[in-house]
Amino acid sequence: MKNKSICLIFSFLLLTANTNAAELCGQAKQGEIVVGLAPGATEASLGSSTSLVDQDGVFLLAFGRDEQKSPILSIRDNKQQTNYTLDISEGAWDIQNIKGIPPRKVNPSDSDLRDIEFEQKVVRAAQETKNMTPFWKRGFIMPVEGRISGEFGGQRIMNGVKKNPHAGMDIAAKAGTEIKASSDGVVTLAQPDLFYSGNVIIIDHGYGLHTIYAHMQEMKVKRGDIVKQGDIIGLVGQTGRATGPHLHWGASANGTKFNPTSLLNINTANKFCFTL
Ligand SMILES: [Zn+2]
Repeated sequence: MKNKSICLIFSFLLLTANTNAAELCGQAKQGEIVVGLAPGATEASLGSSTSLVDQDGVFLLAFGRDEQKSPILSIRDNKQQTNYTLDISEGAWDIQNIKGIPPRKVNPSDSDLRDIEFEQKVVRAAQETKNMTPFWKRGFIMPVEGRISGEFGGQRIMNGVKKNPHAGMDIAAKAGTEIKASSDGVVTLAQPDLFYSGNVIIIDHGYGLHTIYAHMQEMKVKRGDIVKQGDIIGLVGQTGRATGPHLHWGASANGTKFNPTSLLNINTANKFCFTL
């Protein structure tokens, strides 16, 4: 009898742990990515973005440049949905004044608009692939060493016209510099000659996480290839909308774009966990 009650208490504790132990590891800040853990969870969503969750309850959650201060994270298990109000700190964004861009890359013509629409479609499709191989657990490296010529989130003013904030980071390097895969993954796009991105590669790192590499002079991998961290995937160039040779490196998780430098800390994120 005594044993049975201990056992009952124990399973009660386990049950509470399963429904309440959601935690996030990393920085809850605009433009960052965090690793979530919610044992028993089948789905986690923040606004319109729904994270893929593995069998251990691990998921990736990105906060966009303009993420609201107190968004609701909904975590669903087989029985119920629990809502958590997060506290997101503000990012700091600079202003990027870029001059000397060919006028039609700032004010596109009707036929350019069709090319832009095509670009958005193929890029989005390549960032929506769902692969649950945990490639991202390998961690991430900078794909190119060089001067940072454009930070993530900067408000861009091109030839005097206010444009969308910068969706990735720019690393200036000599044309022909080798570009490395920042982590293991599957190539979901290797597309030449897009209007903005030029020759562009997208890699799926699992759990809805993708990185993008744009303006390449040359691409060295093709769609469907499995790459390892450090593999040469292409060469720095200035194809598409670029005023000089550089790599545009971007990242998105479950459709939300964030600062790719946040990935460099993803393996140490477990030192900075907080319970929801
Ligand atoms: Zn860029």
